[in-house]
Amino acid sequence: MKKLLCPQCKIAGMYVKNEQGERLLVYVTDTGEVIPKNPDASTIGFDMTEVYCLGCSWHGSSKRMVKY
Ligand SMILES: [Zn+2]
Repeated sequence: MKKLLCPQCKIAGMYVKNEQGERLLVYVTDTGEVIPKNPDASTIGFDMTEVYCLGCSWHGSSKRMVKY
């Protein structure tokens, strides 16, 4: 399984947010799945459709991430 990367800075570390603005660290697989970095973490309440890059200001749909 490969991880998709940020189209701007090419790192795999991403996070998603919930309504409270809390962050959950995730990565995105090459099949487009958004998976929590900590396998025990709950994704309930988090918006998994918008991912934010840990390394730069990029955010958007996980579908816009790139393979390298
Ligand atoms: Zn980035």
